[in-house]
Formats: sequence, structure tokens, C-alpha cells
Amino acid sequence: MGVTKAHQHLNVTDARHRFESLWQRPDIAEEYQAESLYIPDSLPEPDRRMGQVLRVVRDTKQSRFVKELYEYRCQVCGMAIYAPKLKSVWYCEAHHLQPLGRRYSGPDHASNIVALCPNHHSMMDLGVLAIDPINLTILARHNGESTQDRLLTLRKEHGLNQKYLQFHLDKIFAGGDAAAESPLVADFLL
Ligand SMILES: [Zn+2]
Repeated sequence: MGVTKAHQHLNVTDARHRFESLWQRPDIAEEYQAESLYIPDSLPEPDRRMGQVLRVVRDTKQSRFVKELYEYRCQVCGMAIYAPKLKSVWYCEAHHLQPLGRRYSGPDHASNIVALCPNHHSMMDLGVLAIDPINLTILARHNGESTQDRLLTLRKEHGLNQKYLQFHLDKIFAGGDAAAESPLVADFLL
């Protein structure tokens, strides 16, 4: 099991009211710590390593529009996660093809967003999955991922801009440096 390194995170390990303090920051919804190592009780000192993942909420009308357009199904694999605790009842994530961060300054607009399941969202962030901007073929570097005959599901009303698919292909998939710079970021709908 690995430890996800967050380069920019709130250190709230000791905060008693961490959710209160987090919610005062409008762009931060959740931070959690994951135990990444299991050590049997017989060992004198448990060796624990903490990993932190920062989740940033970008619950904009734009990302909601895209998710609803595809009925919360991943545009790559069609998966929708049933999540009765959420208002939407269904869960998927909004991926910005040209990242929003300072380095790339992509727009928070439907033309730059695709709806993805958490797996394919991570793979896009990590630069091991991309979409051919010309024919919408799914391109993957991941061994277990078969991409034969698989196309991105795309609806006209979406208004997805080819140039952002191209950007992701050139800078994230081919360049592969975005994931190294930013923590694993997920958009989700509350
Ligand atoms: Zn998927």
C-alpha cells in the first residue's frame, strides 16, 4: 500500500474540530488520513505511516451540468456509483482536462470537463490515460486496461472542446508531469 503525498495540505492532525476548521475554507471539503501499514500486535512499537489526500470541492454549475448530462456515468467506462447518502444519489467525478491549478490555469467550464469514475479520473490525473482528440479513442498506458474499440461517450450538448483533449494528451499524458506536482485531487458533488 502506498502513501499519497499531498504537497499542499492543511495539517489538521491535532485539531479537535477539524471539520469545523475545514469548512471555514470554502474550497476544502474533506481531508482524511489513511493508515497505510498494518503491523501485528506482537511487535513492540507499531510503525505507522500517515498518508494524506486533499480533496477539493469544485461543485460548480459547470461540473454538475456535465455529470447530469451523462447521468453520473463515466464517459470512459459507463460506470455510475450508487451513493444513497448523496443528494444526487449517484456519484461520479468531474475531471478538468487542462488542470485548474496555477501552472496550467485551465478554465472551470464544461468545455474543459469530462465526467469520470474515480479510477479513470485518477488515471487521467496520473497521465496513464488520455482521449484522442480526433477520433475519441481511449488511449491507456495501464497494462490491465484494454482500449480496443472503446470510445469516449460524448453528447453534442456537452460542448467539449477538442483543444482541451489535445492539451491533456500533450502535457499530461505525454508530458506526465502534472501528477508529480499536485496531490490526487477529486471533484465531487455533495
Ligand atoms: Zn470509468
